[in-house]
Amino acid sequence: MRTVVTGGAGFVGSHLCESLLARGDVVVCIDDLSTGRPANIGHLLDDPAFTFVEADVSASLDIEGDVDVVAHLASPASPPDYHRRPLQTLAVGSRGTENGLRLAQRTGARFLLASTSEVYGDPLVHPQPEDYWGNVNPIGPRSVYDEAKRFAEALTTAYRNQLGVDTAIVRIFNTYGPRMRPHDGRVVTNFIAQALNDDPLTIYGDGSQTRSFCYIDDLVRGLVAMIDSTEPGPINLGNPVERSVAELAELVLRLTGSRSSLEYHDLPLDDPTRRRPVITRAGELLGWEPETSAEDGLARTVAYFRRRLDEVTAARAE
Ligand code: NAD
Ligand code: UDP
Repeated sequence: MRTVVTGGAGFVGSHLCESLLARGDVVVCIDDLSTGRPANIGHLLDDPAFTFVEADVSASLDIEGDVDVVAHLASPASPPDYHRRPLQTLAVGSRGTENGLRLAQRTGARFLLASTSEVYGDPLVHPQPEDYWGNVNPIGPRSVYDEAKRFAEALTTAYRNQLGVDTAIVRIFNTYGPRMRPHDGRVVTNFIAQALNDDPLTIYGDGSQTRSFCYIDDLVRGLVAMIDSTEPGPINLGNPVERSVAELAELVLRLTGSRSSLEYHDLPLDDPTRRRPVITRAGELLGWEPETSAEDGLARTVAYFRRRLDEVTAARAE
């Protein structure tokens, strides 16, 4: 199997590349390094089955030779990242997705779209099954991400229906783990970095909003199962254990043994109040369910962050 992974130097993408290489696939990773890091794939560069191409997939995506799978993960994912790059976010969800679909059409490859729970917006149905259409503000601060992914789903569906491309859509719910950037602005990274520095944990709003956090290894198993299946999706991939942001803060404080205080900030506009996946489809169609508890997954992430923050501190001191 030869798989093209767009966004392969990012958090999720680098773990997917690693998992595909481990089972003997050939991987071409394409990334413009806008939010990814070379260090995420540094350990893969000596593997002859791995190629890294630095490129913007919104501009073009031409790969020579046979391709079996195009896994399209390229897109900023953290709210501060997509707020900083609104036009690039819309471009990679639209033009970038179409470039990936065209590559799949030309080569006869299976196309996997990494969509998101954000297509459900601030959901009026709870928990969220795949047949819920969502509640998204098309001109709100999150719309560049949410609507780009909704368009990407529509485009992917049209390429399947009109042109017969073998497509797959997964809707990924909040996922965390090693290789997230300590300062990427997402809640898990913020809380862990703040706790390790004994800085106040920044809770937006009153902390009662909920999310369901999935550990990266569980997600990657789901992505690979979807690649290997013939299912079109959409299929939710996420951990159905739901907790409030305030509960997450308490858990991070306990796992780090931190003395940090809690600091309350304004809730960002259109911040979804609750989110939990229905994962019946993933179970029935892919035989998938998450296995890692939040305690285990967060402990592994904290260990990674301790190493990374030491590196960052050492680099600053040089
Ligand atoms: P990330 O920011 O770590 O990774 C995204 C990668 O895409 C980065 O390496 C970035 O440099 C690259 N990229 C962005 N625009 C590009 C372009 N135009 N051309 C080439 N490369 C480009 O984020 P992540 O958390 O790893 O997310 C990966 C994918 O999974 C995204 O599509 C995201 O929407 C989706 N997703 C992630 C989560 C999550 O909780 N992590 C949840 C839902 C969906
Ligand atoms: N959040 C928070 N403090 C932070 C960062 C985020 O309270 O330092 C909240 C944010 O408002 C949201 C939740 O945590 O309600 C998850 O935010 P994240 O950016 O990780 O993911 P998303 O909102 O995209 O699900």
